[in-house]
Amino acid sequence: MQYLSTRGGTSPILFSQAVMMGLADDGGLLLPRTIPRVGCETFNSWQKLTYPELAYEVMSRFIDDIPGSDLRDIINRSYATFSCPEVAPLVHHGDLHILELFHGPTLAFKDIALQFLGNLFSYLLEKNQSVLNIVGATSGDTGSAAIAGVRGKKRISIFILHPYKRVSLVQEKQMTTVLDDNVFNIAIHGSFDDGQALVKKTFTDIPFKNSFHLGAINSINWARVLAQVVYYVSSCLHVNGHEKDSSLDFVVPTGNFGDIFAGFIARRMLPAGTIRQLVLATNENDILARLVATGIYRQGELQITSSPSMDIQAASNFERYLYYLVDGNSTRTRNLMEEFALNKAIDLRADHDLIRRDFAATAVSNEEVLETIATFHREHGYVLDPHTAVGVRAAAKFKTVGVPMVCLATAHPAKFSAVVNQAIGIDPPIPEALAGITERPARCQMMAAELGALKEYITTHARRLDPPPPTRQ
Ligand SMILES: *Cc1c(COP(=O)(O)O)cnc(C)c1O
Repeated sequence: MQYLSTRGGTSPILFSQAVMMGLADDGGLLLPRTIPRVGCETFNSWQKLTYPELAYEVMSRFIDDIPGSDLRDIINRSYATFSCPEVAPLVHHGDLHILELFHGPTLAFKDIALQFLGNLFSYLLEKNQSVLNIVGATSGDTGSAAIAGVRGKKRISIFILHPYKRVSLVQEKQMTTVLDDNVFNIAIHGSFDDGQALVKKTFTDIPFKNSFHLGAINSINWARVLAQVVYYVSSCLHVNGHEKDSSLDFVVPTGNFGDIFAGFIARRMLPAGTIRQLVLATNENDILARLVATGIYRQGELQITSSPSMDIQAASNFERYLYYLVDGNSTRTRNLMEEFALNKAIDLRADHDLIRRDFAATAVSNEEVLETIATFHREHGYVLDPHTAVGVRAAAKFKTVGVPMVCLATAHPAKFSAVVNQAIGIDPPIPEALAGITERPARCQMMAAELGALKEYITTHARRLDPPPPTRQ
């Protein structure tokens, strides 16, 4: 399988090159040249596979430069860290199927992709005898999932900046109590945006970036999208198992558009009609909901909400969808993205019908989130986290009688216990992974939000390709 940039400026590359490249060299995002099709017979033959076996069937259709036995091994190790053998179990409440994606090490759905990406990076680096220093800024969730994905890996070090005292205590501890010597937590005096700006500046110093083998781990890596396609397929198999030929709807709490884009790929891959509707649910940061309503993609003012992992105003994976929307025209994709960078808005009204065919969408307010957590708990005795509550609220709006609807549950409620407590008056039960976390030993470097300080720290601690020769006394 060859991979191309949405902006058309890279020559075709293989899967492993696409993984190591992350962002395409021309500033675009990488996509497979074609989306492989799965026929009914093959699809039905997957019914009894375990999650890792299914992951292999799905992913191997997009990967032809890693031997099958190696890929199986990477997948098996990635999902062995999950606390439940189904990896992504479905539970049923009322007329909804809830797809629990929070059984990984950090209790959020990002583990499903980042456990895989960590092992994949490690495998590819071993093969190329190379090293990688991951540098990223986090507002909370991605940082801990990324750290959990690469902790203890021989050829990788990870530097994660978080804004000092501006992430929740649990989020902070989920990062700083990981004591492996390849993990470097940095608390900066400043905001998340300050951290993000520092990281960006580090990456624009190309000689520095190259000499220290810097890499990113953000949601634009194709391997992350690919890993997420799997649970859409597993849901279709398990919900539809008994009634062949029926369709399924999904509702997806959305921020950077990575998760729902994986659903878009799954829909194109599976037999026609297997996935009917994809419902895009946003919080008050509703740029994508407005796009579906109006055909105009226009950045708004950032709102702080109770579902912080979806507080995003420009969805980093949107360009991938745009590319398909304009029928694979990379020149038009590039022009539109350049226009967006300039004006913070693009007019897609000419394609509005297509957009509405691809997605239904709605935005959900903070108040509705609290109300939904309370109602769902009262009616079903099940505690939703605020992100999942955004989805459940949207599901009620788009549920069609007779069509099963799967709502993606993207985080464990214990990660957001303050909001949950506000809604239902009690704290959600604490899962084993978080028990006593605030008392565990922690390690973290304080730092001013200054480029010089960050570069010096990386220079001192980065993983190097060749160990320096032993010094003679
Ligand atoms: C990242 C995240 C989301 C949003 O997913 P995208 O792929 O960015 O759309 C939703 N919920 C939680 C808990 C997350 O961590």
